[in-house]
Amino acid sequence: MIRDKCGVFGIFGARNAGALTYLGLYSLQHRGQESCGIVSANGGGFHSRMGMGLVNEVFSSQHDIQSLRGLAAIGHNRYSTTGSSSPDNIQPLVTNSSRGYIALGHNGNLTNYHLIKKDLEKKGSIFRTTSDTEVIMHLLARSRRDKIEDALAEALGQVIGAYSLTLLTPRQLVAARDPAGVRPLALGKRRKAWVVASESCAFDIIGAKYVRDIEPGEIIVIDKNGVKSRHLPKKPHSYCIFEFIYFSRPDSRIFGGTNVDKVRRRLGRALAKEHPVEADIIISVPDSSNTAALGYSEESRIPYDIGLIRNHYVGRTFIRPEQKIRDLDVKIKFNVVKGVVKNKRVVLVDDSLVRGTTSKKLVKMLRDAGAREVHLRLSSPPITNPCFYGIDMPTKKELIASRKSVEAIRRYLGADSVGYLSLERMLQMPSLPRGEGFCHACFSGRYPIRILDKNRNNHKNRCD
Ligand code: AMP
Repeated sequence: MIRDKCGVFGIFGARNAGALTYLGLYSLQHRGQESCGIVSANGGGFHSRMGMGLVNEVFSSQHDIQSLRGLAAIGHNRYSTTGSSSPDNIQPLVTNSSRGYIALGHNGNLTNYHLIKKDLEKKGSIFRTTSDTEVIMHLLARSRRDKIEDALAEALGQVIGAYSLTLLTPRQLVAARDPAGVRPLALGKRRKAWVVASESCAFDIIGAKYVRDIEPGEIIVIDKNGVKSRHLPKKPHSYCIFEFIYFSRPDSRIFGGTNVDKVRRRLGRALAKEHPVEADIIISVPDSSNTAALGYSEESRIPYDIGLIRNHYVGRTFIRPEQKIRDLDVKIKFNVVKGVVKNKRVVLVDDSLVRGTTSKKLVKMLRDAGAREVHLRLSSPPITNPCFYGIDMPTKKELIASRKSVEAIRRYLGADSVGYLSLERMLQMPSLPRGEGFCHACFSGRYPIRILDKNRNNHKNRCD
């Protein structure tokens, strides 16, 4: 199964819906780089284009975009995975059942997918993909409810897990978010058109305004008569805190319109308070920890400098399965600005430590470049547990902090000191949306949503 750490986008009521979706996906590229796709609806049927690769690779000519005719469209970026990357799994998934054409894009992960799939297979369903999203399609096709929102509510009543969905029929755009609201999903407006997107940065690029979040447990249907909303039964909210730490873009507003930049800066400030150190410069691991490093610098009054340069023309390193390739990738991806770090006591700020591969290489590269001391500071707590709600994390035993103490990690990385932001301090940050619950299972092991699939037992969030 694939892990859907993805970006979703949808628009209804714009003459150039396909082209606007293409731009939206461009802004959401950081949420998935393995494949992408757009489906547009022209009232009668669908037009679609999808493929493996980045948005500008899959849509490489004017014609690719112009062929996406119609007033509504949805788009999807899928996250790179370590297992089989089959073109069958590219989203939006499209089916044609007795209900007519439906296209579906999903960000998240269903935690009872295997159970439902097994049950449906016993009843004769044939699955085309290894994606959990397909069970929603099957449940929709089987539903006897006429209205799409009723059928979707019935289907979602059977699945457990995290989902932010965009769904397209020839005449409607539907968006839904799981009752815990694990992944973000926002509603925007561009002139007369309604827009939904994983993050508000996708609104900015097309000149749309953020209106509000799709609420946890909300299903909205947009058609020529306007917007209709209904709700699934209420559950406590569990927003993914890792969206603030790493995944979402700093220029986005997520989870009730909270600025990611603001939270990330606060994470850096809190880290500086919790783990101060005497040093000459603060540098970040670009780009995901730039903002937290600025926060650390503001709080500590140690100057921020640019000591690492990232090559933007390579994919994320985390996705490669073999250790050998991964190490090489770190070198391909980052280089040290020697003049900045030479003879300096350096604080290296990163947003998270997963396997420890990146940091180990970087610490060595900084020392080789003449850094006198290297102090690693992490703007999140130790990651000790895998994510079952849609973030691509390795197995528990591959997570360095699940096996080693902070001192053992320091020795392994070869750093002068290592300091993690504590869970308590992180959750106390005033910039987090007030009164909301967060999922921090990757740090605490407290999983807010039941994980019924048996692959939980071997701590693997994968079955591909
Ligand atoms: P590692 O080298 O395995 O310790 O990975 C740490 C780096 O990966 C950090 O610089 C993070 O910014 C980044 N990172 C954290 N979580 C993920 C993820 N789920 N997918 C890709 N990269 C990640």
